[in-house]
Amino acid sequence: MIKEIINEIKNADTILVAGHIMPDGDDLSSVTSMVMGLEKIGKKVVGVIDDEIPEYLSGFEAINKCVRDFDCAKNNPADLIIIVDASSPDRVGRVQDLFEYKRVIVIDHHATNLNYGNINWVVPESASAAQLVLEVLKELNVEYDEELATINLLGIATDTGFFKYSNTNSKVFTDAAYLVDKGANLNKITNQILENKPIEHIKLMKDVLEEMKFEFDNKLAYSTVSLEMLNKYGIEQKDTPPFVGDLRSLRGVEVAIMYNQAEDNEYHISMRSKSWFDVSEVAVHFGGGGHKKAAGFSYKTDNIEELMKKVSNFIGEKL
Ligand code: 5GP
Ligand code: MN
Repeated sequence: MIKEIINEIKNADTILVAGHIMPDGDDLSSVTSMVMGLEKIGKKVVGVIDDEIPEYLSGFEAINKCVRDFDCAKNNPADLIIIVDASSPDRVGRVQDLFEYKRVIVIDHHATNLNYGNINWVVPESASAAQLVLEVLKELNVEYDEELATINLLGIATDTGFFKYSNTNSKVFTDAAYLVDKGANLNKITNQILENKPIEHIKLMKDVLEEMKFEFDNKLAYSTVSLEMLNKYGIEQKDTPPFVGDLRSLRGVEVAIMYNQAEDNEYHISMRSKSWFDVSEVAVHFGGGGHKKAAGFSYKTDNIEELMKKVSNFIGEKL
C-alpha cells in the first residue's frame, strides 16, 4: 500500500493535503508535516483545512505557514489530493467537493474509516495519523530538520495524551525517539498545550461541573458547554476546552460525554471510555465515528435533553 502511495506522490507535481474539520493536534500535525516534507522533495504543495484553527494550536509557526483555508484549495490545480486523519468525506468539509476531479489518497488510523479514496491506507493500530505521515516521508527519504520533527511529534504527543493512553505502544516511542533524534522539541509542545491554558477555561469548568450528571452507578458521566456559557467567559466555540477527559478521570466512570453546543442548534458530542466500552459504536450509531476510547458526532437538535436521554439509553444497555 505504501509503495502505491509513494508512486502516486512521485508522479504528481502539485499536491493538495487536507485534514478534517474541528482540527486537533494530530490532524494539524499530519497536514503540516506532509506539506513540509513534500516541499522538501520539490513538490508544489498546499495544505488545507476547511475550518478554523483552535487557539491552543495557533502558537506553532509551522502550522500557520502550511495550513490554508478552503479558498486556497479551490484555486489550486493539484493533480493529487492526500487526506489525513479523516474517517469519512463529510469530515473534510468542502474539500470533498473536489474529489470527483482528482486522485484521492486517504491516510488514516480510524477503524471507522469509510475507505472513500482511490487509495485508502487505514491503520487502526497506529496511535496517530502523524506516525503514518512519518512513514511516508521516511520512505521518500525526506531530510528532517528541527521544525519538521517537532511538528510531526505534535500529533503523536496529542493523540496519545502525551504518552499515557492505551494506544501508547512501543512504535509510539520508537517513532518519537526518531523525531527527537532529529531535533524535535517535546518540551515546546507540552508548554504550548499543557501549560498555557487561558484562565477563563478553568472558570468555565466551574459551570461545567455544576451541570455534571452521573448515571448507571456513576459509570456514565456527562455535562454540557452551552453557547451561553462560552459567551459568559468570552470563549470562542472552536476553543471549547476538552473537559471530557476530566470527566473520564473520575473513579468508577467508564464513559464520559461532553455535549458542546455550536451555532444553529448544532451540538458536537465528544465521548471517551476508560477501559472496555467502545464509544465508536455509539458515535457511528448517531452518525459520527472515531476510536474505541475516543469518538464523537455532530447532531442538530433544539432539544438537547432528548438527545441526552437517547444517548444514555443506548449506552446504558451496554454498560
Ligand atoms: P473529539 O471528541 O476529540 O472531538 O474526537 C474524538 C475522536 O472522534 C477523534 O478521533 C475524531 O476524529 C473522532 N470524531 C469526533 N467527532 C467526529 C465526527 O463528527 N465524525 C467522525 N467520523 N469522527 C469524529
Ligand atoms: Mn488522529
